[in-house]
Amino acid sequence: MAPIFHKMKYILLNLTVLFLLPFVHLHAEEDDDKLRIIVIGGHPDDAEYKAGGTAVKWAKLGHHVQLVSATNGDVSDRKGTREEVAARRKAEVEACARKLGVSARVLDIPDGELMPDLETRKLFVRVIREWRADIVIGHRASDYHPDHRAVAQLIQDCSFLVTASRFCPDVPALESMPVFLFSSDNFTTPRPFEPDIAVALDEVFNQKLDGLHEIESQVYERRGGTSVAPPAGDEKARRFWLKIRWSGRQRKEAYKYRDLLVELYGEEKGRTVQFAETFELSQYGRQPKPTELRTKLFPFFGAE
Ligand SMILES: [Zn+2]
Repeated sequence: MAPIFHKMKYILLNLTVLFLLPFVHLHAEEDDDKLRIIVIGGHPDDAEYKAGGTAVKWAKLGHHVQLVSATNGDVSDRKGTREEVAARRKAEVEACARKLGVSARVLDIPDGELMPDLETRKLFVRVIREWRADIVIGHRASDYHPDHRAVAQLIQDCSFLVTASRFCPDVPALESMPVFLFSSDNFTTPRPFEPDIAVALDEVFNQKLDGLHEIESQVYERRGGTSVAPPAGDEKARRFWLKIRWSGRQRKEAYKYRDLLVELYGEEKGRTVQFAETFELSQYGRQPKPTELRTKLFPFFGAE
């Protein structure tokens, strides 16, 4: 009996080690000195649209990015029940995240019902703390969609509380205050978006498109647009159609903030950048010096 027991103990020990290995690895990865970025949007597509290309650039340098949707997107006018639509949209952003090299998280709040209340404030504090974010990006408060406005309000409400250890003590408070930024928009009331950072996407633009291609319910099935997407069976035509649309969109962003691109990248490269994503520093949270913002937090302007 004794040798058999000894053997079983040995097998059990080995199985335990094997089981724990991925966690050991994960822990090591989380403890690296890389940046941890969280982008929070109202719906399963906002973070990907606004910051998907910059996310790829961070990920390529080994930084950790999570794209979060605050609602499950279940009022989207697509086939199926609300539960089915929510499940589909979650699967889409997860597939997109795999293409971008980042992680995705969808909070299970009904679409159109996000409220900047105490319960949701606690949820946002936990989400930001769980990612141990150095950088938090979200919508501005002047936006057409109530869920986007609620995200903006909630992030603002969290910008002090994420470091307050007695608030939501179940998740350890952040030791240092993150830097908060706004993603771009075209709203002008009460004031227009004024970016501090413009990231050139030219080298990663196709990878961003590969990611967006996975969010098919939103990029290809939207009704009422001026241009109808090719059918699902014609993938080549769909990808081409997507590229045309997004080239226009991201080219406009580069054109609009050309001066900032030149300031960040220098005259030669700044003038030739075709596609850009832009971000504005929020007055809430930590205020980095411009050099830190442009070299450490967005480490894209030196070596390109
Ligand atoms: Zn949205």
